[in-house]
Amino acid sequence: MTETAATIETEALIVGGGLVGLTLGLALARGGVECVVVDALDPSSVTDAAFDGRVSAVAFATCRMFRALNMWDDLAAHAQPINDIVVSDSRGPRAADKAAAAPFFLHFDHREIGDEPLGHLIENRYTRLAQQEALEREPLVTLIAPDAVARVDYDARGATAELRSGRKVRGRVAFACDGRASPTREAAGIKLVKWTYPQVGIVTTVEHERPHEGVAQEYFLPAGPFAILPMVGNRSSLVWTEREELAPAFLALDDDQFTEEIANRFGPYLGKARPVGPRWSYPLGFHMAREYVRPRLALVGDAAHGVHPIAGQGLNLGLRDVAALAEVIVDTARLGLDIGADDVLKRYETWRRFDNTALALGMDALVHLFSNDVAPVRIARDIGLGIVNELPLLRRLFMRHAGGTVAMGGEKKLPRLLRGEAV
Ligand SMILES: Cc1cc2nc3c(=O)[nH]c(=O)nc-3n(C[C@H](O)[C@H](O)[C@H](O)COP(=O)(O)OP(=O)(O)OC[C@H]3O[C@@H](n4cnc5c(N)ncnc54)[C@H](O)[C@@H]3O)c2cc1C
Repeated sequence: MTETAATIETEALIVGGGLVGLTLGLALARGGVECVVVDALDPSSVTDAAFDGRVSAVAFATCRMFRALNMWDDLAAHAQPINDIVVSDSRGPRAADKAAAAPFFLHFDHREIGDEPLGHLIENRYTRLAQQEALEREPLVTLIAPDAVARVDYDARGATAELRSGRKVRGRVAFACDGRASPTREAAGIKLVKWTYPQVGIVTTVEHERPHEGVAQEYFLPAGPFAILPMVGNRSSLVWTEREELAPAFLALDDDQFTEEIANRFGPYLGKARPVGPRWSYPLGFHMAREYVRPRLALVGDAAHGVHPIAGQGLNLGLRDVAALAEVIVDTARLGLDIGADDVLKRYETWRRFDNTALALGMDALVHLFSNDVAPVRIARDIGLGIVNELPLLRRLFMRHAGGTVAMGGEKKLPRLLRGEAV
């Protein structure tokens, strides 16, 4: 990186240092490509417990990438292995009791595909901390934060960002990792296919009496999916999808009433459960950028696509983008070629667009199927769950997809980082 009074010159400019942007910075740096990440938020505030209540289901292949990026030593103590996933249908109060007794359910057991867990549940704040620690060890990546990118200008040889502080950063290419609203995508005029769900994701953590044994439960209530995700210790993260008109009333309940509502859905299978810590709520929607690249610009992570959290895949898709993009860029740099050239960025788009679109639409179909209380639909999906449960080959295929160890085009199309190799 060279800095003159006016402009910082680098190879790759990354707009947004969230979970996706910082991982991209680390991956490029480990591949020998210098980069600057700019984020609007203060790094010390984003690791605070009050900043982000989400606990992400990190697929097995994504964990391999965290290992390859030197983050796993800092993460291991905070990562809860997911051994089993149980999916079932249920309705009304004491939903978990009914789910446990449901005649049709789907059980994914990691032992069917090997010794490794299906993935890990990790609190986002610990992933951010591990990224910040890894950043300290990578001299080729520089984080500028807090400072927002006010605009990006493109020319034939690169992209220049003007920051709110008045500084400028210039790279051969800009990577927009600036989230769902992506000001960089909007300024470039890239259109979205998008819709919103009439649902809100309520997220909170509960402590319970009995151990969860690494089992993630997801069952389907009339308002939408209710997920109980195992965390380290006798704790679980709840992702409770609720109708948007009802969610504010649930969020405003006092502690005793909120505990009662949770008990109604949670049931007694883990013993007494009590919420600990704050409640968060997230509006839920779908979006897919019509283009991922423009001259000297590529969209990555939520800037390119956003999905319902029904299958815990949003971050995993973004990190798969990172693995593919880093590989394309690092290979190009090793050949001494221009990392921001159109054909290089197109290679990334071709690699990722089909996979993202197929998975995102599949998840959208699941949301509609499982947020529906019409009797024939309910019966059909229950039977569908039961049938898949009886088909070991299909079950294993689902597990491999959930673990991220297969790409839509087959194992050999997985980027090196997702295979746990150096970028
Ligand atoms: C309830 C819920 C549960 C979820 N659970 C899971 C799960 O279990 N597993 C999973 O894989 N995914 C999950 N997701 C999805 C996942 O959280 C997101 O896909 C992921 O956080 C997106 O990361 P990102 O870095 O692309 O975007 P963001 O996290 O939105 O980061 C964008 C960054 O860009 C910065 N920024 C924006 N504008 C500017 C600017 N002008 N200048 C500088 N910086 C800027 C912001 O400060 C921010 O740091 C869940 C989502 C929800 C809502």
